[in-house]
Amino acid sequence: MAVDSAISSPLGPPACEKDAKALRFIEEMTRNADAVQERVLADILTQNSKTEYLRRFKLNGATDRESFKSKLSVISYEDLQPEIQRIANGDRSAILSAHPISEFLTSSGTSAGERKLMPTIKEELDRRQLLYSLLMPVMNLYVPGLDKGKGLYFLFVKSETRTPGGLLARPVLTSYYKSEQFKTRPYDPYNVYTSPNEAILCPDSFQSMYTQMLCGLQDRHQVLRVGAVFASGLLRAIRFLQLNWQQLSNDIETGVLNRKITDPSLRECMGEILKPDPELAMFVRQECSKESWEGIITRIWPNTKYLDVIVTGAMAQYIPTLDYYSGGLPKACTMYASSECYFGLNLNPMCKPSEVSYTIMPNMAYFEFLPHESNSSGFNRDSPPKLVDLVDVEVGKEYELVITTYSGLCRYRVGDILRVTGFHNSAPQFHFVRRKNVLLSIDSDKTDEAELQTAVENASKLLREFNTSVVEYTSYADTKTIPGHYVIYWELLVKDAANSPTDDVLKQCCLAMEESLNSVYRQGRVSDNSIGPLEIRVVKCGTFEELMDYAISRGASINQYKVPRCVNFTPVVELLDSRLVSAHFSPGLPHWSPERRR
Ligand code: AMP
Repeated sequence: MAVDSAISSPLGPPACEKDAKALRFIEEMTRNADAVQERVLADILTQNSKTEYLRRFKLNGATDRESFKSKLSVISYEDLQPEIQRIANGDRSAILSAHPISEFLTSSGTSAGERKLMPTIKEELDRRQLLYSLLMPVMNLYVPGLDKGKGLYFLFVKSETRTPGGLLARPVLTSYYKSEQFKTRPYDPYNVYTSPNEAILCPDSFQSMYTQMLCGLQDRHQVLRVGAVFASGLLRAIRFLQLNWQQLSNDIETGVLNRKITDPSLRECMGEILKPDPELAMFVRQECSKESWEGIITRIWPNTKYLDVIVTGAMAQYIPTLDYYSGGLPKACTMYASSECYFGLNLNPMCKPSEVSYTIMPNMAYFEFLPHESNSSGFNRDSPPKLVDLVDVEVGKEYELVITTYSGLCRYRVGDILRVTGFHNSAPQFHFVRRKNVLLSIDSDKTDEAELQTAVENASKLLREFNTSVVEYTSYADTKTIPGHYVIYWELLVKDAANSPTDDVLKQCCLAMEESLNSVYRQGRVSDNSIGPLEIRVVKCGTFEELMDYAISRGASINQYKVPRCVNFTPVVELLDSRLVSAHFSPGLPHWSPERRR
């Protein structure tokens, strides 16, 4: 067992008695990580012993790790698809969980182009709530005085559907914001939001964002922290301000709410909040009409101590833009979670983004770690994978996270690659390295190589009548604009120069690609406006050969060279852009509806 308490110091001193209790809980969990894990596994196996899934493995009542590990297989979402489909279709028997499945959480990870459906049970809400309740006590250790003001958080609910069997299917945060735990949370001076619940819960994203921004502007001197879940969400709020500050200032000046806000409960609650304030309206106009928006966050909200947004993983691409708008305010990444399970928290939230490590809380689920070697699936026919327990991971090594949850996922591969950076007591701390197989991501979308390949194939069918084919392609997530967008570089072989594809056809190719991409991408385009139109950049013949020459000049092996299907190294992007022939944007929106295609 790896106990390395020498490199971590106890948390403290707490800001208040409530915080002291939370910090004691963290200490207790992390000191006894192995014992807690053993108990969690036994609890889960006891609770679910009669489920159809566990019975298959003939544990015969055993709840110890050895029996569990020797009898249960490590699985992925696809392995559970038949069981999940039966639950979705209305089978209420104890298939995965002894407790009734209360709803499905729709992950941003997809399977066959649709969001994965994660079954969950009621008691998981309490477990998630428990993790949330630990965040402020930790933050208060580093940032004093957060009880003297408010947090401006841009939080949203998304559309929900019902499965054929009548269960709700919605994102985990929508489920949380709509829960009684959130709506009737007791007053906590350290956790006061500028946004009223009515604004967060408004299903119309324009009305929700508009009123949240309005409240944030009204309370501008009280705002001590500004946040959203992911960095991309906060930048979307800044973009919203750029597009709507004139109307917002009119509302502030007159105290009369924009007629576009039609939701009755929102109008009623804003009627109480909005007061005419011509001086504030003038200030907002002055700041927002300046040519440069550098430092706009601290100009409008001068008391902001930090940004509360996730900038780890794919979100790291937004750090320079956030720094630009906030004058380099600290960026706190507080927690690491997923639809399957909430994992843990950052015990040093004011550290630099590159140093963020998440401490997995051993009470949340039973965690195992599959040693990860780059370019391997983690499985090898000759030697089956040896999974490592939470306290046995080694500093510096990379692992894929495997979880066993109270909701009934057993030895389930999450798909996240983590690197161990150290320990807090006996609980390891992890740097989020990346999600497996993700090539492109702008917001919560995750596009893999196979999806991109299919999209290129489908789009290039439109080129056939021009006797043209795509000889090579690569891609790039362009986040210089808000929202960001996918750029696909194409090198074309045009056999008949007199009949080469027109701008119009190439635009249609952009749309055809968008139609092929998964539903999370299309929702980002259509409903969330979090992704801009896809762009095809046609490059000169021979460009990809130059790309190979460049890679070889930097040490790549000529025999093993493969065209990268995504590029982000600036000199490579610059090389591609310097060979540009033409650029084309998607002319419309792809199809998307909350209903699933399958
Ligand atoms: P979802 O299932 O849609 O909620 O997405 C969960 C996934 O988002 C995780 O498995 C991670 O890949 C990613 N994620 C969540 N929290 C973080 C974080 N703090 N840093 C980096 N990636 C994260």
